Amino acid sequence: MNKKLIYLDYAATTPVDEKVLEAMLPYFSKKFGNAMSVHSFGQTAMEAIDNARDEAADFFACSPSEIIFTSGATESNNLAIKGSLRSYYSITRKTGEKPHIITTKFEHHCVLDACKFAEKDGLAEITYIAPDREGIVSTKDIAAAIRPNTILVSVMYVNNEIGTVQPIAEIGKILKKINEARITGKLPRITFHTDATQAINYFDCNVDTLAVDLLSMSAHKIYGPKGVGLLYIRKGTPIKRIQDGGDQEFKMRAGTHNVPGIVGLGEAIKQVQSTKNKIQTNEIIKLRNYLIKRVLKEIPKSYLNGSKEKRSPNNANFRFDNVEGEGLILSLDLDGIAASTGSACSSGALEPSHVLLSLGLRHEQAHGSLRITIGKYTTTKEIDILIARLKEIVKRLRKISGNVLADFK
Ligand code: PMP
Repeated sequence: MNKKLIYLDYAATTPVDEKVLEAMLPYFSKKFGNAMSVHSFGQTAMEAIDNARDEAADFFACSPSEIIFTSGATESNNLAIKGSLRSYYSITRKTGEKPHIITTKFEHHCVLDACKFAEKDGLAEITYIAPDREGIVSTKDIAAAIRPNTILVSVMYVNNEIGTVQPIAEIGKILKKINEARITGKLPRITFHTDATQAINYFDCNVDTLAVDLLSMSAHKIYGPKGVGLLYIRKGTPIKRIQDGGDQEFKMRAGTHNVPGIVGLGEAIKQVQSTKNKIQTNEIIKLRNYLIKRVLKEIPKSYLNGSKEKRSPNNANFRFDNVEGEGLILSLDLDGIAASTGSACSSGALEPSHVLLSLGLRHEQAHGSLRITIGKYTTTKEIDILIARLKEIVKRLRKISGNVLADFK
C-alpha cells in the first residue's frame, strides 16, 4: 500500500509530537527508575515527574500539589465522580440522605456510565441536562436543577463529537455564589467538575477563571502519548481515591508512575503554551471554516451539527440527508481518508450517537453524520481531496439508498 493516507480524526487521538517523543525516550531504558525508590535512579525519575507537574500547574494556574497524574481522561473522570461519592459516604453522609449529581446528556461515556452505575447501585440521584439544538448547555438549566442534596456538577468543556463549547466559567460563577451562601448553612458544598479533554489545545484552562474544583484531561489529544492524563483537584475539595494501593500522587492515585508518559504529558502541555501553537490554531480555524463553507455550499442537503460560532477550532460535524454515516466512513477509508462518525470509543456500535440525539435530531439524522477533526499537520490539499471524494461518495450512497427504497415500494 503506497497511497498517502489522510488523517482527519484528531479528536480521537493525535500523533506524538517530535519534541514530546524526544523528551520521553530517555525514560524508557536509561532513566528507568521507579519514582518512589529512594536511590538515585528513583530520584531522577521523581525529578522528571516534578518538572511535568510544574509544567501542568503553570498551564492550569494552580499549585503543583493539586495535579494528580492518572492513566487518562477516563480514569480522571471516574476518579472525579466516584471519588466525590466515596468522600460523601465516608465523611459527610447523614442517614438516609442520597447525594445528587447534575451532569449533561452528551458527556463522554465514561462520565455518563459512572453516573448511571452510581444511580443503579443506589448511591446517587442523577439529573441529566439536555443541551439546546445548537449543542450548548444552558447555565439557567443547571442552576434550576440544583437541590439541597446536590454535591457535584459535571459539565464537559468541549464536546468530543460536535465540538461545541460549554459556558464553564459562567456555570462556575453561579456555583461559587451558591456555595458562598451554603457556607453558613448545613447544605453540602457543590463540587464543580469539567472534562476538559477536548479543550486543552485551544481554550483558556485557568482553573480560577473557570471556577472549577476538578478538571480532567488526557495527553493523547494534545500530541502526547496514550495512557496518561491528569485530574486537577482544588485544595480542600472533598474527594477520596478510588484506586487503593501505594502512596503515589499524594496518596490520591495508587500505582507505579508511568514516568515516560508523564514526561510526555508535561512536554505536550509545554508545546500547547508556545507561540507556535497559537499561530497553528489560527491556521486550523481558517482551514476548518474553509471546509465547512465548501461542504455546505457544494453538497446539497448537507448540514452542520452544533453551533457554528461556539465550537472548537478543529471540529466540523456534518449530516447529510439520506446517507448513512457508517457508509461514509467506510468509503472514505477505502480512499485512504480517516474520519469518524462520533467518538472512537463507541464507533464500533451501530447505535445512533447519544450526543446527536441529545440535540433533538431524529435517529436517521443522527445516523447520517460525519465528524472531521483536523490538527496541526492538516493541509489545504488534504481538505480539497476530502471534499472531492465526499461529493462523489455522498452522491453514490444516495443513489444506492434511493434504489433500495424504490425496491421496497
Ligand atoms: N472525555 C472526552 C471528552 C474525550 O474526548 C475522551 C477521549 N475520546 C475521553 C474523555 C477519554 O479519554 P482517554 O482516552 O484518555 O481515556
